Amino acid sequence: TDQRTWQHVDSYIDRTLGLGDPVLDAALKASDAAGLPQIAVSASQGEFLNLLARLVGARRILEIGTLGGYSTICLARALPADGRLVTLEFDPRHAEVATANIAAAGLADRVEVRVGPALESLPLLQREQPEPFDLVFIDADKVNSGNYLRWALELGRPGTLVVVDNVVREGHLADVGSADPAIRGSQEAVELIAAEPRLRGTVLQTVGGKGYDGFALALVGE
Ligand code: SAM
Repeated sequence: TDQRTWQHVDSYIDRTLGLGDPVLDAALKASDAAGLPQIAVSASQGEFLNLLARLVGARRILEIGTLGGYSTICLARALPADGRLVTLEFDPRHAEVATANIAAAGLADRVEVRVGPALESLPLLQREQPEPFDLVFIDADKVNSGNYLRWALELGRPGTLVVVDNVVREGHLADVGSADPAIRGSQEAVELIAAEPRLRGTVLQTVGGKGYDGFALALVGE
């Protein structure tokens, strides 16, 4: 099979399950109109994130890498009315588009977009001594995926689920000795799951409209 087939099947899944509803479509349209790159999660991946948040009963979610807020909306929809999602975004233009999209989705009361490099925002967030996050979604600069996973341990608790997006990178995850910083970052995240006794997890390869990639999933333990 190839990209055309994966796209075709994603379309079938979206159509049949009614994924990518008008609110999410509007968020994508607004992101495109503002010239944001088309690198949000797909509709079925967004629904997968929503399911994961429901499965862990997430009341507090941390997202690293907001873009136009597509995955933010998918995740925040799983929160109870008193739930909270903090999302970190480096680019003020992306944050602005996301803030409008989140408001249009009726989720402004639950979501806070923080602008700045995540490695600066994370220590600031920690200083506020927030309630531990129940789910952390890592989807920003891939070179730092391992660093963000380390931060997820800091800001989580036993039972926290961490999802790291785009670790498979069309198979380059397996390029041992690669000098590509994004590949190294993905490998660091996977190696940390193996090395850190408080983490257990795995990597799931995915295909679809967004190509060939995959998620790392890790559960924080004692
Ligand atoms: N999670 C989004 C979604 O699925 O809808 C997609 C996020 S996109 C793949 C990655 C985002 O991370 C971009 O908006 C980019 O500006 C942001 N980013 C890149 N480097 C960052 C950093 N150091 N700190 C915070 N955000 C960063």
